[in-house]
Amino acid sequence: MQIYRLPALSDNYIFLLHDPKRQVAAVVDPAEAEPVLIMLQNLGATLTAIFNTHHHGDHVGGNRTLLQHFPQTVVYGGAVDQGRIPGQQVFLQGGDRLSFADRHATVLFVPGHTRAHIAYYFESSASDEPGELFCGDTLFAGGCGRLFEGTPGQMVQSLSQVRSLPDNTRIWCAHEYTLNNLRFAHSIEPDNEALTQRLATVQQQRQQQEPTVPSWLGIEKRTNPFLRWDISSIQTAMQTADPVQSFTRLRGKKDQW
Ligand code: ZN
Ligand code: FE
Repeated sequence: MQIYRLPALSDNYIFLLHDPKRQVAAVVDPAEAEPVLIMLQNLGATLTAIFNTHHHGDHVGGNRTLLQHFPQTVVYGGAVDQGRIPGQQVFLQGGDRLSFADRHATVLFVPGHTRAHIAYYFESSASDEPGELFCGDTLFAGGCGRLFEGTPGQMVQSLSQVRSLPDNTRIWCAHEYTLNNLRFAHSIEPDNEALTQRLATVQQQRQQQEPTVPSWLGIEKRTNPFLRWDISSIQTAMQTADPVQSFTRLRGKKDQW
């Protein structure tokens, strides 16, 4: 399975999964159709699946047009999103299994950003191969999604699920927010050496207009404050030992930032 990252709108990424053996492709969260259609043409591949993480327009905006071009495409989304995702045919719950291009995936139910948000985790199928997590607006490189429909408690639960995946999981998040996220993170944890280094690296990458996605879960665990609500440096900065309270204050600070 070959993964292509397609920039879309102002700061979105669409991910195209290509199965070269069968010349079919799937897309994760097509914000718009155009970049997907161009890539499919370049590859000479047919679209067979759309994997949506949640109903927001910058994630499902291309569904209708893609379905017009490839009417056989199956649209996947969360069961709780019923009625909110254009063309949705498959209604997924946490723990559901699916496969694409010889890879197997598990659906994670990760409410918080929205009440229906799901993520797609493709397990590694060989020891030297990373896992692939398509997490929409739940976890970002250096940050996490805003809580539009869910509670901090739900988001902590959701991010706990993500955090329990193997370190060598690539994080395919839907926005290029990394630099701003890491600047905020550094204001919270100025003594985190791994974070200081990462901020410098990402500053350089963005100066060259290089993408910072995908990230790795192992790096996120060491540098992303939104996976560190129960680490003492964060709890000290948030002045609470209660994990959910710590996360709540951290998210609140980021919203104000
Ligand atoms: Zn969203
Ligand atoms: Fe988004």
